[in-house]
Amino acid sequence: MRIGLLKESDSESRVAFLPEVVASLIKRKVSVLVETGAGESALASDAAYEEAGASIAQRSEVIKQADFLIGIQAPDDKLVASLSQEKIWLSQYNPLWNIELVKSFQSKGLTTFSMDAIPRSTRGQAMDVLSSQATVAGYKAVLEAALKLPSFFPMFMTAAGTIRPATVLVLGAGVAGLQAIAIARKLGAQVQAFDVRSAVKEEVMSLGAKFIEVEGAQEDSAAGGYAVEQSEDFKQKQQQAINEHAAKANVVICTAQIPGRKAPLLLPKEAVAKMKPGSVIIDLAASTGGNCELSKDNETVVEYGVSIIGQSNYPSQMPIDASKMFGKNILNFLELLFNEEGEFSLNFDDAIVKGTCITHQGEIVNERVRSIIQP
Ligand code: NAD
Repeated sequence: MRIGLLKESDSESRVAFLPEVVASLIKRKVSVLVETGAGESALASDAAYEEAGASIAQRSEVIKQADFLIGIQAPDDKLVASLSQEKIWLSQYNPLWNIELVKSFQSKGLTTFSMDAIPRSTRGQAMDVLSSQATVAGYKAVLEAALKLPSFFPMFMTAAGTIRPATVLVLGAGVAGLQAIAIARKLGAQVQAFDVRSAVKEEVMSLGAKFIEVEGAQEDSAAGGYAVEQSEDFKQKQQQAINEHAAKANVVICTAQIPGRKAPLLLPKEAVAKMKPGSVIIDLAASTGGNCELSKDNETVVEYGVSIIGQSNYPSQMPIDASKMFGKNILNFLELLFNEEGEFSLNFDDAIVKGTCITHQGEIVNERVRSIIQP
């Protein structure tokens, strides 16, 4: 079996795996073909991949010669058109959102895996790209907010007077939100967080932040730990609480998401209008509509004196460590797909393999994706 590593488009600086993963694949009797320049923006040269045992080729040759193609983002139409039925595709292609792409994979009979579909089980943790990349996003979001804010994060008592610490409000306390809380606390800010899942209250408090309680949230144990859509009554109470806290905050970090749906709207423009001029909003959910009504994906806008930064791909801004973690997640997953002879073997009795495989032989294998496309 030959794995092909593809270069991402110009807007993505990560690479799906660094040269350090190549040796482990070769040990598994899998050969590796790397598109020239694939690791360039993550500071991994062609020479480093070659030294690790990979071969380097032009893009068209990698697509032609490799059996199993790996990238980070969803493939574009041109790439999908060039994939023949026997190829295997793996990336983080967000199948709950990119429905048309799933349909094209299905109609072409391709076997495809999407790393964001790895079940969030204890065993799945080592392969969980959502977690590893959200760790980067939460970290970077706070650093960008601190740089943009026209005041300090920590408290300072100086001869020139006392500087009060910044107040940071984190909306959504999943992996990115918890990381953002930890970093904002390390920088000395006072932090408050809100989430519809009451289970996160203890984690928020153990990081030294205050948990904002709103009674009446709907939680569904069948949702696999994810948030579910909330009632109108709850949304109103939630809105009031968020508005009050946002008006006092210097920074709001938005991380709330519901898989396969538009991100919940938590900061309408009326709430932004009441915030202090100079405040900063970072919206990590911008690519799925944003938690803030005024967010624009990949843009910074200033409204009512508040800077609103829509950024859903901070991991691309930290390509070395983000690629390192992504690659390790991929390697751990690939170990479930190859036998000792380096041959591809698809074991649907393994919940991780079945959950991550989206299409195979003209079928949609992943139950969640199938229920959306073929309800
Ligand atoms: P996510 O990116 O889907 O969403 C971020 C956070 O936003 C979540 O905490 C969610 O509850 C919250 N949210 C959604 N709607 C909201 C609203 N209207 N108001 C406020 N908050 C809202 O979440 P994630 O970080 O991917 O984590 C999702 C789940 O997966 C969590 O239960 C987490 O503990 C679990 N998880 C499990 C593993 C594992 O065991 N392998 C790894 C990571 C995460």
